[in-house]
Amino acid sequence: MKVLKFGGTSVGTAQRMKDVAKLIVGDRNIIVLSAMSGTTNSLVEISDYLYKKNPDGANEIINKLAMKYYGHIEDLYTTDEYKQKAKEHIKTIFDYIRTFTKDLFTLFEERIILAQGELLSTGMVNLYLNELGVHSVMLPSLEYMRTDKNAEPDPVYIKEKLTKLLNEHKDADLYITQGYICRNAYGEIDNLQRGGSDYTASLIGAAVNADEIQIWTDIDGMHNNDPRMVDKTAPVRNLHFEEAAELAYFGAKILHPTCILPAKLNNIPVRLLNTMEPEAPGTLISNATEKDKIKAVAAKENITAIKIKSGRMLLATGFLRKVFEIFENYQTPIDMVTTSEVGVSVTIDNRKHLDEIVDDLKKFGTVTVDSDMVIICVVGDLEWENIGFEASIIHALKDIPVRMISYGGSNYNVSLLVRASDKKKALQALSDHLFNK
Ligand code: ADP
Ligand code: ASP
Ligand code: MG
Repeated sequence: MKVLKFGGTSVGTAQRMKDVAKLIVGDRNIIVLSAMSGTTNSLVEISDYLYKKNPDGANEIINKLAMKYYGHIEDLYTTDEYKQKAKEHIKTIFDYIRTFTKDLFTLFEERIILAQGELLSTGMVNLYLNELGVHSVMLPSLEYMRTDKNAEPDPVYIKEKLTKLLNEHKDADLYITQGYICRNAYGEIDNLQRGGSDYTASLIGAAVNADEIQIWTDIDGMHNNDPRMVDKTAPVRNLHFEEAAELAYFGAKILHPTCILPAKLNNIPVRLLNTMEPEAPGTLISNATEKDKIKAVAAKENITAIKIKSGRMLLATGFLRKVFEIFENYQTPIDMVTTSEVGVSVTIDNRKHLDEIVDDLKKFGTVTVDSDMVIICVVGDLEWENIGFEASIIHALKDIPVRMISYGGSNYNVSLLVRASDKKKALQALSDHLFNK
């Protein structure tokens, strides 16, 4: 059994839903769907109006969104019977969303609203498949996808509930389920963060020990640089799990940062494929490494660098522990670390407790903060005994001020910190020097 996840653009119109149906019919796989593209953003906007106690603003967006969906129904279904069924499905959901315009609005209600996008799209595709005569069965995510008290997925619960649901519907031609949405440890409706449908797919893949997890999107696989920023990017055919995880974490939007881990732990290959070009080979993510190759570059924004300079203390045992403890006390993860004999620099992306952290650090040395930075992450076979790779990376950036360089933490990456204003230039320079010579 495979798990196939289709993202927002892949189900973004009635025609796209029809194309997805052609790709999935014929095999008894689990199909994970995102909301139609733009829907989750509209639901965020609706919630924003409701937080601001502006029900008129919210209603305007709700009505516009509902009209779009009624339009999709006309395009998607052929028979009056199924048009009617789909209209009822959509009406029920929009009526429900409208109930939130009348009462107190909190995070709890917001999460319920955000969950409606995936409920809309999966219901529509399921009905469409039924209209085609396909016996597709809906596996409601809210019945098996669950996070624990630390907001981490609960793999034991997920496996148990999902296996039970699958066993109850052994005669299905295929299964449809919602990406992104889940329940939390308190049984409330919650989600796996924006872009989290990829995570749903890999959690399901791990739970059912799938042969493969396929992430279908609007591009022919992981490119060697961000195609939204850089000219002449090209797809990478093979990635190691670690390389893919680094790229996803450091900003390659095609994959949700957390999505690789469940696949890696269970050694399930992940294939990135293009719905608009299904024959393209895409990218295969697996346990295999390719020797002597730099694969790709990604960038993570909104990074803050903090330097603590203290000639007196760095060599003393326990200095680094004390520094790291401060970040831990404020639940602020550190991304990059570089050290010298007189100081240490770290980067964070969560600035919530920055002032308190800086205050506490001042006990140990002189503290400098650089905001608006980006981490540029270069990924590939960067094992230390390979020669020349670090030199070409640094050479590519010879005209750009680099604030930190981190290498040797893994065999797979070099990270560099530059100003946000130099991001595009740095990414393009790396593409030109490393890939497009
Ligand atoms: P989906 O809605 O299917 O989840 P996303 O928009 O989340 O799709 O991810 C696909 C997009 O990721 C692509 O359209 C592309 O613009 C962007 N992207 C950013 N970096 C990369 C990269 N290195 N390789 C491929 N796509 C990338
Ligand atoms: N619909 C959600 C979002 O837009 C989840 C996803 O598409 O992965 O973030
Ligand atoms: Mg995505």
